[in-house]
Amino acid sequence: MMTNSVSLRLAAVRELLPTHEIDALLVSGPENRRYLSGFTASDPSWGMLLITPAAALLLTDFRYQAWAQQEVPDFEVRIYKVDLAETLGEHLKALKVRRLGFEAVHLTYQQHQRLTQAVADAGLQVAWQPLEGLVEGLRQIKTGAELAVMRRALTLTETVMRQVAEELAPGQTERQVAWEIEKRLREGGAEGLAFPPIVAAGPNSARPHHHPGDYALKNGEPIIIDMGARIDGYCADMTRTFIIGPADEHFRKIYSLVRQAQARAEAGLKAGMDSLAGDGLAREVIAAAGFGEAFGHSLGHGVGLAVHETPNLSPSEARRSVLPAGCVLTVEPGIYLAGWGGVRLENMVLLHPEGAEVLNQPGYFYEWD
Ligand code: ZN
Ligand code: ZN
Repeated sequence: MMTNSVSLRLAAVRELLPTHEIDALLVSGPENRRYLSGFTASDPSWGMLLITPAAALLLTDFRYQAWAQQEVPDFEVRIYKVDLAETLGEHLKALKVRRLGFEAVHLTYQQHQRLTQAVADAGLQVAWQPLEGLVEGLRQIKTGAELAVMRRALTLTETVMRQVAEELAPGQTERQVAWEIEKRLREGGAEGLAFPPIVAAGPNSARPHHHPGDYALKNGEPIIIDMGARIDGYCADMTRTFIIGPADEHFRKIYSLVRQAQARAEAGLKAGMDSLAGDGLAREVIAAAGFGEAFGHSLGHGVGLAVHETPNLSPSEARRSVLPAGCVLTVEPGIYLAGWGGVRLENMVLLHPEGAEVLNQPGYFYEWD
């Protein structure tokens, strides 16, 4: 990560401190920590950021000292022995922090208890302010550099999807196919997986987040494959549905309907749209055909350093937001019928004010006629 993107992000988050009436922000979510500092450590317990209008500290322990100093030149690296509770009070005192924002979604209850206790024991009067979505809101808008990395992750994902699709054969187990995906993503240059691949065959494909098992692929049954590479921290997320051998009328009908719903959403989505309206674009197509109950999840979600991030493309009022220009969303309608199976198709799109740009290459790697 380049130094200048870190300094821009630091400036952006600092602008938000007065809005939330805080003197400092304690950042513990690993993606947020990486986004703001460039520190690539993945585990939440490997350090936190303390950001004030004038100071930027990375608080970690001895094991990450050299790593952090090399990777995070814009932050002062401060070391504690075992636990941040040892030193947080000193830092807050030195920086004159009276109102401290923390990430309600990421700081565990236990950490909160220990840290607030330690700060109180140090004799400091600090108001702890729980916040949600502060850094996540900044992360929604992708820069050109972020988009370039995400396009690489998606291109690799599509290449592996195509290869695996060509080799699908009766008798292969879901787990064997999942391992093949994992191996090829790694060999193709992914630093890891965005998430463990989903390979769901036959009746298992009626379970949207099935864990691949010993079920063997059979002719004429739907096979859902959902996977993504991770490159430089950024995720891709893509789903295709296949069938080995001839597809029957029922499969063709369901597949066409899901494809139609996806195409409708891709054509209708644009920045500035309400998320509920965005979700509705595909949902209406599926509901009008009588399968509304069989599409039981959101149409999509934001993707970036996390495979699921805001904004949500969801029918839920609680997750409602305006979809911003520059966000990357998945568009993934599905129909799931217990006992038979399911169909899901997932692309990634970039929202512009005038419409959605599909980031996937054209093609579904599968035609039944
Ligand atoms: Zn997916
Ligand atoms: Zn997804």
